[in-house]
Amino acid sequence: MTYETADPELLSRSATALAAVPHSPLSGMDGTIPVHDPATGEEIATIPNHTVETALEAVSLADSAGKAWAKTTPRHRSDVLHAVYARLIERKDDLALVMSREMGKTISESYAEVQYAADYVRWFAEEALRAGGSYREAPAGGATMLTTRGPVGLSVLITPWNFPMAMATRKIAPALAAGCGCVVKPATLTPLTTYLTVQLFEEAGVPEGLVQVITTRSASAFSEAVLTDDRVRKVSFTGSTAVGSTLMQLAAQNIVKSSMELGGNAPLLVFDDADLERAIDGAMLAKMRNGGQTCVSANRMFIQEGIADEFIAGFTERMAALVQGNPLNREVELGPVVDDRAVARLAHLVDDAVAKGADLLTGGAAPAGSGTFFQATVLDNVPVAADITTTEIFGPVASITRVRTQQEAIEKANDTCFGLAAFVFTESADRALNVAEALETGMVGINQGLLSNVAAPFGGVKQSGIGREGSAEGLEEYQEVRYFNVARR
Ligand code: NAD
Repeated sequence: MTYETADPELLSRSATALAAVPHSPLSGMDGTIPVHDPATGEEIATIPNHTVETALEAVSLADSAGKAWAKTTPRHRSDVLHAVYARLIERKDDLALVMSREMGKTISESYAEVQYAADYVRWFAEEALRAGGSYREAPAGGATMLTTRGPVGLSVLITPWNFPMAMATRKIAPALAAGCGCVVKPATLTPLTTYLTVQLFEEAGVPEGLVQVITTRSASAFSEAVLTDDRVRKVSFTGSTAVGSTLMQLAAQNIVKSSMELGGNAPLLVFDDADLERAIDGAMLAKMRNGGQTCVSANRMFIQEGIADEFIAGFTERMAALVQGNPLNREVELGPVVDDRAVARLAHLVDDAVAKGADLLTGGAAPAGSGTFFQATVLDNVPVAADITTTEIFGPVASITRVRTQQEAIEKANDTCFGLAAFVFTESADRALNVAEALETGMVGINQGLLSNVAAPFGGVKQSGIGREGSAEGLEEYQEVRYFNVARR
C-alpha cells in the first residue's frame, strides 16, 4: 500500500459525504478558503472566508434566536437534544468520512469521535433537566435565600482542528441545554465536519439561526469584533495557550465569562512496579490516539530504571509495527499529521533532540510521497535541554527519559507551565494516589491511557486553562447563578 492509496469504496462514499456538506447560509464573504485532504494534498472543498460584518450578522441572528430559546422549558431543550443525538448517529457514516478526509484521522478513530461527540449531546440532553438551584435559611434567620441558574447568554465557541466534531458538540450541547444561542468558529483546516454537524442539529429540531457557523482566515479580526460586542456574554475556546491568552484579554474588556481549554505537556510515569503489558498498552493509547495530535497526548515519558529496558523495547516494537497510510483504509492505524507545518515542526523536534544527545530508536522522518505524513518515532534518553521537552509535540513522536526515583519522576513531571493531564502506571494503589495527588494537572489517568469521558470534568490547571467541559460542571460554564433574598416575618 502506498501512503496515498485509499480504499476505493470508502473513497467513493467519502465523495458523496463531502457533497452533502451544506453551504453556509451567510453570504457576506471575502473570497473562499480551500480545504485539503492531508493524506493526499488534494483540495476537497472550499468554504466562505466570512467578513467581520457577516460575523456580526451571525451574532444578531443567534442573539435573537437565543432570546426565544432561553424561554423554552428544560424538557423541550432536552427532547430536542435527544433528537439531535439520534440524528447524528443516523448520519455517523457521513460524519466519519468527512472527518477523515479533512483531518486525516483513521476511519475507525473518526467513527469513535462521532460517537464520543454525539455522547456529549446525549449527556447534556440529560443534564438540561438537572440544572437546579438551592433554598436555604439565612444563618441568622429572618430570610430565605434562593439560588437559581439561568443561561449566561450569547456564547462564542472557538474550536481547534484535532477533534472537529467532539470539540464542537462539547460546547454547543451545553450552551443549548442551558438556553443560550451561539456562534461557532471552527478551525479553517477542518470546517466541514462542523458545518455538517450543525445542519444535523437543525434537521433534528434546533431552531434555525440559533447556532451560527463562521469560517474566516482573519481569526483575530473576528475575535476583536465579536468578543467586544455587547451582546456576547460568553466565550469558550479550545486551542493553544497563546491564542487563549489573547482571547482572555479581549474578553476582559466587557467582562465576558470565559472557559479556556488550552495546551498540554502531559507526563507519563511508569514505575518499576507497573504491569508491563498494561503500561505499554496505556502508553500506546496515551501517546498515539489521533496520531499523537491530542492536547492530552503523553508528551514526556518518564520511565523508572528497573523497568525501562523492557518497557522501551516493547513500546518501540509496537510503535515500529504501526501500519501507516491513507486513513480511508480499515487496516491503517496511523494517518498523516494535519499539515506541512506539523511535519516541519516534528522534524525539527526530532533533529534537535538527537543533536543534543537523544537516541533515535525508530522512525524519525517524513516518508517520501505526497501527503503530510511523519513516521511513528521513539526517542530515548532525551535531555532536558531538548526543545521537545517544553514544546507540545502534537504528532507521532515519543520522548522518553529514564528516572531513578518516584520523587525525581514527580519533580520532572511538574517542571512545566502546563497542567492538563498526566498518566501514572503502577500496581501499588498507595503509590498511584500519592503520585496523582502530587502531580500538578487537572486530570490523571491511573493505569490507563484514555481520559476523555462525557461524564468527567475535562480541563487543566496552570497555563492549560480555566473551566471544565463535560460532566455537570460543563453545563455550569453556560449558566449564571442568581440569588434572591426573601424576607421572613
Ligand atoms: P490554535 O490556538 O492555533 O487554534 C484554535 C482555534 O482558534 C482555531 O479555530 C483558530 O482558527 C482559532 N484562532 C487562532 N487565533 C485566533 C484569534 N486571535 N482569535 C480567535 N480565534 C483564533 O490551536 P490549534 O493548532 O487549532 O489546536 C491545537 C491546540 O489546541 C494545542 O495547543 C492543543 O493542546 C489545544 N487543544 C486543547 C484541548 C483541551 O481540551 N485543553 C483540546 C484540543 C486541543
